[in-house]
Amino acid sequence: MRVRFNITGIVQGVGFRPFVYRVAVRNSLAGYVRNRGDAGVEILLEGEEQSIQNFLRDLKEKKPSLAQIHDIITTTLPGKNEHKRFAIYKSSKETELSGSVIPPDIAICAECLQELRDPKDPRHEYFFITCTNCGPRFTIIERLPYDRENTTMHEFPMFSLCQREYTDPLNRRFHAQTVACLTCGPKAYLTTSSGEHVQHSDPLREAGRLLSEGTILAIKGYGGFHVAASATRDKPLQALRKAKHRRAKPFAIMARNLEGAKSFAEVNSKEEALLSSYARPIVLLNKNSEYSLSELVAPRLHNVGVMLPYTGLHYMLFDRVDDTAFVMTSANPPNQPIVKENDEALKTLGGTVDYFLFHNRKIAYRCDDSVLRVHGTRQSFIRRSRGYAPAPLMLKEKAQRCVVGLGGEMNNTTCVLLENKAFISQHIGDVENIETRVFLQEATNHLIRLTNSRVDTMACDLHPKFTTTALAQELAEANGWSLIQVQHHHAHVAALMMEHTVDKLVGIVCDGYGYGVDGGAWGGEILFCTRKSSEFKRLGHLEPQPLLGGDMATRYPLRIAAAMLSKKVNVEPWLLKHSGKLLHGETEAKLIVQQLEKGVGVTETTSCGRVLDAVAAVLGVCYERTYEGEPAMKLESAAVKGKDALNIKPVIHGNMLDTTQMLNTVFENVGKTSTADLAYSAHAYLARGLASLAVEKALETGVKTVGFSGGAACNQILAGIIWRTVENAGLKFLVHEAVPPGDGGVSFGQAVAGGFFQF
Ligand SMILES: [Zn+2]
Ligand SMILES: [Zn+2]
Repeated sequence: MRVRFNITGIVQGVGFRPFVYRVAVRNSLAGYVRNRGDAGVEILLEGEEQSIQNFLRDLKEKKPSLAQIHDIITTTLPGKNEHKRFAIYKSSKETELSGSVIPPDIAICAECLQELRDPKDPRHEYFFITCTNCGPRFTIIERLPYDRENTTMHEFPMFSLCQREYTDPLNRRFHAQTVACLTCGPKAYLTTSSGEHVQHSDPLREAGRLLSEGTILAIKGYGGFHVAASATRDKPLQALRKAKHRRAKPFAIMARNLEGAKSFAEVNSKEEALLSSYARPIVLLNKNSEYSLSELVAPRLHNVGVMLPYTGLHYMLFDRVDDTAFVMTSANPPNQPIVKENDEALKTLGGTVDYFLFHNRKIAYRCDDSVLRVHGTRQSFIRRSRGYAPAPLMLKEKAQRCVVGLGGEMNNTTCVLLENKAFISQHIGDVENIETRVFLQEATNHLIRLTNSRVDTMACDLHPKFTTTALAQELAEANGWSLIQVQHHHAHVAALMMEHTVDKLVGIVCDGYGYGVDGGAWGGEILFCTRKSSEFKRLGHLEPQPLLGGDMATRYPLRIAAAMLSKKVNVEPWLLKHSGKLLHGETEAKLIVQQLEKGVGVTETTSCGRVLDAVAAVLGVCYERTYEGEPAMKLESAAVKGKDALNIKPVIHGNMLDTTQMLNTVFENVGKTSTADLAYSAHAYLARGLASLAVEKALETGVKTVGFSGGAACNQILAGIIWRTVENAGLKFLVHEAVPPGDGGVSFGQAVAGGFFQF
C-alpha cells in the first residue's frame, strides 16, 4: 500500500521528523518524511496495510510531548512502491495548507540540564545546550520551513560532534536545528558598558559573581535582553530605578530554584507546576513572612513576580554565588519594545548597566517573559508571551471568516483567527509610538505568514484616534479586507464567550479605560452580549465620576478622589493638607477646587480603575501613578489582610452603582478603622455592588451565565467576591484562564467577534 499523510499542527521544531522516522522504521515501512513550507509535515509510506495502521496509532499516541496534531489529510496513492527504506528528506517549499505553526520557546529540558552539569559530557558547562525537546524556537526562526538555514543558527556550521548527533537517528539531537557545542556554537562574552571586551575564561560565572557583588548587567537571553541585578542589595536597585525612570514598578526576579523561591514566597502546587513548566513564566507569588529580598524589588506590594532559570546560561549565573535570586527584568526603553540587537543594547542600555553579558547568536523575533497569577486552582494571564506564543488557542467551533484582531492601545497583542484556532502574538506593549507600531505590524505579518492564513477581515477598536485603528484601516484597504470595529469592553466579553463557548453572557468588565459606544470613557460596565452585535447592550455601569484634567487625573489619583468627595463635603481643607503630593502643590489644589465649583475641564468616566485610584489616595496608599495600575495594585496589597469591616450596602440607582457614598464612608472612617479593613471594604463594596447588579440583569434577561473580564479581573479580592456572589445566586460564573483578562486579550476578543458574531 502507498499512502501520503499531510499533517498540520505544531509539528516542526518539536522532534517530529525524528519521531516519525523511528516509528516508520519500527513498523518496517519505507518512504520519507519532510517539513513543508507551511509549517506542516508530509509523510509518504510504503508497506503493509497493517503496518500503516500501526504507524498511525503510534503517531497519535506516542507523539513528542510538544507536538500538536490538528489534522491528518490522507491520500492513497496509485502506482508501485518506489522506496527501499525510510528517510528524512530535504524540506519542501509547498505552502497550500494553513493553520500549522512553530512552537514557542521551550525551557532547557532535564536531560540537557543533566549534561550541562556532567563533567564527562562534551557539552559540560555549555550555556547554549539544547536538543529536539528544548531550546528557542519562536524567537530563532526567521522563515519556514524549520531548517537550520532558516534560523539564526545558520551562522554556526556544525562540526564533528554536533554533525554526528544531528545525523544519528538514535540520538536525541537527530535533526535538532539548534544543536551546538563549545566548538561550533554561539559564544558568550562580557563587555563593559561601552562595549569593550572583558577577557575572562568563564564569562557566565563571572557575570553571576558581578551581580552578586552589586553591579548591574544586561543579559541577552532567548527573546531579548534582561537587566539583572542583586535582589538583596538596595544600592544597585536604587541606581537601576533611577536610570530606568522606574520609581516603583516591581521588578521580576529569577530564583535559583524552587526551594529558593519558597524561601521568600508562598508557593502552592499549581504555582509550583507553572514555575517548573517548560514555559517557565513569571508567576506572581505572595511574599511570605521570611521575605528577605530588598524592599526595592516590589515596593509596597504583597506579591512578587518570580521565574525559574530557563536556559543553561541562567543556571550557570547561579553556580558560584549564594544568591537565592536575581532581579531579571525586561530591558526596554520607556514605551518601547524589548531590546533584541547587540548594537541597540549598547546604545539604549549602556547608560544603565555596568556590564553586558552578550552572546553572538541573533534573535529573530523578540518575545518578553509571560506573567501569570494563580487564583485558587485557576490561572490568570497578566501577560501571555514567551513559552505560550504563538501556540494557538483551540476553540470548539470553526469561524467562517479568517480575521486579524489588531488589539487596542495599551499592553497590546495581535491575533489571527483561522477556523477553530486563535493565534495570539507575543506581548507587543503600548502602541503609542513608531517603534511599537512597527513591532505590531511586523508581528501581525509574521503570524499571518507562519500560519499561512488567508485573511479576509480586519477587526480593531472603536476609538477613532487609536494608532491601531488607523493601522487597521490602512491594512484593510491595502489588502482588500473588510473592516469591523469592536467596542473595547465588547471585545473583552466576546473573548470570554468564545474562550468558554457560550452564546449569551452578562459580562462585568472592569478596567481603566475604553472608548464607549456613546463616545464616553467606559471602564466599569455590565454588558449583555450575544453572537449578534446588534443585540449588544450596556445594562449597567458604575456612577460616572469627574475626571479632572484628563491624563493628569490618572497620574495623580488625589484629583479624582477630590472630585468624588466634593459631591458631599467641602474638600478644600483635605486637599490642601495633601497638596504636597500634587505636581504643583497648593496652587494646583486651589485650582482644582475652583474647577470643581465651576465644572470646567471636567469629563466623566465610569472607570473602575479610577474609583480604586480614588480609594488609594483617600487611604494614603498611593498618591502618584508611576506605572500602569499602581494605585489599584497597592490598594489590593493593602487590603489582603483586611476584612469587610464597614460592610457598606450597595447603593444602586436604576442601572448604576453609586460610588460617591462608598468613598465618603471610607473617608469618614480614615483613622477610625485600619487601612487594611478600609481597603478591603472598598473592594467588597464594588464587587458586591457590581455582582448584584449583574445578577439582577441576568435574571431579567434570562441569561444563566455571568462573566468577569478586564484588567481588574486580575484583582483577586474583586474576582473572589464577584465569583461567590454570582454562584450564590445560582448562576454560572466565568473568568479567563487561557486569554489575559486585561488588554492583552482584546485582540483575541476582536478576532472572535469578527469570526463568530453577526456584524
Ligand atoms: Zn534538551
Ligand atoms: Zn558542535
